[in-house]
Amino acid sequence: MLAFVVSLILTLCLGLVAAGRKTPAAQTFFWLMVSLSIWTGCYILELSSVTESGKRFWLIAKYLGAAPAPVVWFLFSLYATSREAWLNRTVRVALTGWVLLTLGIVWTNSAHHLMWMSMHVEAGQPELQVHHGPFFWAYAAAIYAFILTSVALFFNFYRTTQPLFRRQGLLLTLGGFAPLAGRMSEDLFGLDLLPRVDEVVFFFLLSGIFFALALFRYNTLRVVPIAHHTVIHNIRAGIVVLDPGDHIIDLNPFARELFGPTSKDMIGARLPDVLPSLMPAAMGRETLDDVTFVRDGVQAHFSLHRSPIPGPAGRLNGHALVLFDITARREAERQLEVQAQTDALTGVTNRRRFLELAETQVQDEGGRCAVLMLDIDRFKTINDTHGHAAGDQVLRETARACRSSLGPSALFARYGGEEFVALLSEVTPHEAELAAGALRAAVEALRLEHEGRQVPVTLSIGAAVYEGTPHDSLERCMRRADAALYASKANGRNQVTVAPAGVPVAGLAS
Ligand code: GH3
Ligand code: MG
Ligand code: MG
Repeated sequence: MLAFVVSLILTLCLGLVAAGRKTPAAQTFFWLMVSLSIWTGCYILELSSVTESGKRFWLIAKYLGAAPAPVVWFLFSLYATSREAWLNRTVRVALTGWVLLTLGIVWTNSAHHLMWMSMHVEAGQPELQVHHGPFFWAYAAAIYAFILTSVALFFNFYRTTQPLFRRQGLLLTLGGFAPLAGRMSEDLFGLDLLPRVDEVVFFFLLSGIFFALALFRYNTLRVVPIAHHTVIHNIRAGIVVLDPGDHIIDLNPFARELFGPTSKDMIGARLPDVLPSLMPAAMGRETLDDVTFVRDGVQAHFSLHRSPIPGPAGRLNGHALVLFDITARREAERQLEVQAQTDALTGVTNRRRFLELAETQVQDEGGRCAVLMLDIDRFKTINDTHGHAAGDQVLRETARACRSSLGPSALFARYGGEEFVALLSEVTPHEAELAAGALRAAVEALRLEHEGRQVPVTLSIGAAVYEGTPHDSLERCMRRADAALYASKANGRNQVTVAPAGVPVAGLAS
């Protein structure tokens, strides 16, 4: 009796621990412990009753726990191994029906004797002595069927799970196996721990301890229910599974959304027919690529990781394709690139980028280019008179005026400080001089004000024509333009000087 009482207390404790956990497996475990407690509790009362009617009452009451316990056990094995998809309507109705049928037959036994044909008290026997009826054997067979199925599920989980869940799988399998082992040791080897009483609840308790270890020590059942398919279902990445013949056999919801309304027809189709851009270049190897999709009229960039799925005996079972959206990263990279090529203050091209672009342009166009070097006159005075912020504003407005005066085909950049540079393409020397004159006039015409005071701004410009001969270079041409600029300064500023062809301006070469 003490053993049963201890067993009852342990069962209740396990149930209490499980009651706080919110996963379906933990909650099912809680109900398993509740059924087991009712079963054990009523069995204790049956054994301790002194009258036959008392024993009879508790024997029947015991089935309030004993009828649902095997079913709840089976449910637990489904949740613990992420097989809850099996619980469709039919299965739910059948399982509930079975519990109600068992209870109904037990409670109305006196009318049909399907469960027990007879029962009586025997001196020296704490249990009611019964002759079982035909339904008892169906009930017993169902218990075996539920337990065998769940042991198979646990074992399969143990066999197929990732190493992280192996121990949990082992504990679940051992737990599932405990009642079978108990029964078999008695039935096959006659090993009866407690003669005259039924110790099956002990083996269920043993299972409960194994399950609880799997459940709480390793947190399995907090992790396993969100494993694999839930992850694949919810991950913000497209997953496409191919069979060895490159037929699409699975698309997760993200991939369906990505491929749009036609995605429902893609299952079963060959990948090269429907999404050729995703085809692996080399079969059976890991590959990583970038691919682009147009979604809602907007380009979206994805990184595409293809992994072969190995099959038995070194064969290939197919491929798993994973698509990560890298549009935001691409956009950030693009912005960084723009930043690296732009002058932060004025927003025009910076010197480094100008030199890159101008070099290719003079290579392509040869003798039809011209370089203009521009420098704001007496800029230091502007800074000193109106302050640095006003100076910055002058730089911005000057850059803007130059950019719009030059037109889209010219390159224009801030060369540093208050100096700018332009590369004109497809111009004659005369057109270059006219363009420089227009620039000078445009800046002079700016009517800039700072705190109510006029800020007059003028430019000095040096122009040089690129000769396109083998001994000329962009660098030499810029030096000629710089020398011409120096001449403009020396001659009184706010003017354009065109460098004579071929040689740097005499005596003024920098
Ligand atoms: P010149 O007519 O001979 O070109 O005289 P200048 O005063 O324009 O030439 P100088 O090279 O003596 O002075 C250029 C000044 O430009 C000095 C520097 O403090 C100022 N400067 C350079 N970069 C910036 C900037 O980004 N913002 C402002 N506000 N001032 C700058
Ligand atoms: Mg200056
Ligand atoms: Mg200067």
